[in-house]
Amino acid sequence: MNSMPHQLVLATHNKHKAEEFQALLVGSGIDVLTLDDFPSVGEIVEDSDSLEGNALKKAREVFRATQLPSLADDTGLEVDYLHSAPGVLSARYAGPNATYTDNVRKLLHALSGVPAGERGARFRSVLGFVTASGEHIVEGICPGVIIEHPKGTSGFGYDPIFLPTGYNETFAEMNMEVKNTLSHRARALQQIKDVLLNYFRSASGSLREP
Ligand code: IMP
Repeated sequence: MNSMPHQLVLATHNKHKAEEFQALLVGSGIDVLTLDDFPSVGEIVEDSDSLEGNALKKAREVFRATQLPSLADDTGLEVDYLHSAPGVLSARYAGPNATYTDNVRKLLHALSGVPAGERGARFRSVLGFVTASGEHIVEGICPGVIIEHPKGTSGFGYDPIFLPTGYNETFAEMNMEVKNTLSHRARALQQIKDVLLNYFRSASGSLREP
């Protein structure tokens, strides 16, 4: 077994996202760091008009600053009735300093009176992975509906109002282990898992399947 650590930097300070990724990669032998481990990396402005653009921008900047393989996630909630809004603006839907509660409240207001059959939505996560050997980009989608009143206290963001298709609990009523079996982020990571494992295998030795 090679003793060189297989370090991966997640381009985020969001502890919920980091926890989800860490749980998804547990047992892989990959040592998952976050931007909290690199205080010198300043704020990365998410100014692209697409999830793809922001994910690649974050991964590239973190790779440039740390010289370690970098994985960035940019996620949006796309609501059919709102023509896929808030989408790439999900974090700032209710304004530049909006809290999760502000965003949820604004979305429920925008859908007030909209019947159940027209409340379809999806979470879309785009992952950018940047290393010295190149760049990769993948996406994961989780379809569902926006319910009328928040339910549950787990998770973050829009979790309390998102009911994934085929389930009768919102993401915020599930524990993280269950959310991680079906979420947009888990599906995106599944798409890129082989790329990650192959990268670390060829970089320096053996790795296990997570
Ligand atoms: P970001 O730009 O990828 O950090 O995410 C944009 C916004 O989407 C976040 O501020 C959250 O409100 C929301 N979001 C991202 N991922 C999730 C999730 O897994 N569940 C609920 N909301 C999420």
